[in-house]
Amino acid sequence: MVGFGPYVLLHTLGEGEFGKVKLGVHTEFGVEVAIKLIRRGSLDDEVRASKVEREIDVLKTLRHPNIVRMFDVIDTEKYIGIVLEFAGGGELFDHILANRYLKEKDAQKLFAQLISGVDYLHKKHIVHRDLKLENLLLDKHRNIIITDFGFANRFNHASDDLMATSCGSPCYAAPELVVSEGLYVGSAVDIWSCGVILYAMLSGYLPYDDDPNNPEGDNINLLYKYIMTTKLNFPDHISPLARHLLQMMLVPNPEHRCTVQEIMVHPWLSAHA
Ligand code: ATP
Repeated sequence: MVGFGPYVLLHTLGEGEFGKVKLGVHTEFGVEVAIKLIRRGSLDDEVRASKVEREIDVLKTLRHPNIVRMFDVIDTEKYIGIVLEFAGGGELFDHILANRYLKEKDAQKLFAQLISGVDYLHKKHIVHRDLKLENLLLDKHRNIIITDFGFANRFNHASDDLMATSCGSPCYAAPELVVSEGLYVGSAVDIWSCGVILYAMLSGYLPYDDDPNNPEGDNINLLYKYIMTTKLNFPDHISPLARHLLQMMLVPNPEHRCTVQEIMVHPWLSAHA
């Protein structure tokens, strides 16, 4: 048995950019945690080191039921271990795949939790900037746990969250990140990604992935041209209210995209208001 601070390390839960994430059990209290083990050797360049620093720095300030809790950071000679709340329900991605797509009632609960977490972040003047299915885990009661704050950033004033660094994953990134050069509004970028996530929950696939010239979305510039010029299509089973909400979120022009507050009062989410 391998010890790590007061924890015993068990099996590997997943693998990230910097190393393995292991299940840990506290030797005295028996509490299960996920320990993100970051090899010190993997932090050789400044960008990578600042990504980890940023993640720890942001997680320290967060406390919300749908955002992963950070309990501790353990430093050893070889590793930095970020001790996190264990999300025992696996990845939302797998949950959707297992069901092909989610029933609207199930999606409403999960999406309301995501929006509650994002609203909390934005009120604390933090934007996530890498919201995607792979960064949404489930706890054992199947509640959303938002993870991976490596791209998160702070802004100073609620009315002025302009940012310059482009980041995130192409399929979830708002068009203004690629199409225009210069500053963008961080919170609006998170709303776009939430729209992509909701679409994927309800359909089982990502929006805008039906361009015959770019079927895998590999060419980012083509993907963005396609987004700017193509009307959003929905599978038949998606309800009119859900379509209405998606059409408010997946608006290419960030000035016309809806806000978190508008999402929270949308009738599709009324059961979770
Ligand atoms: P990425 O390459 O996506 O940036 P990363 O280095 O930030 O990855 P994570 O995404 O945080 O690493 O973790 C990698 C995997 O480990 C996740 O996909 C998930 O399967 C597992 N994992 C991470 N955190 C937890 C947790 N708190 N509870 C359970 N499993 C977790």
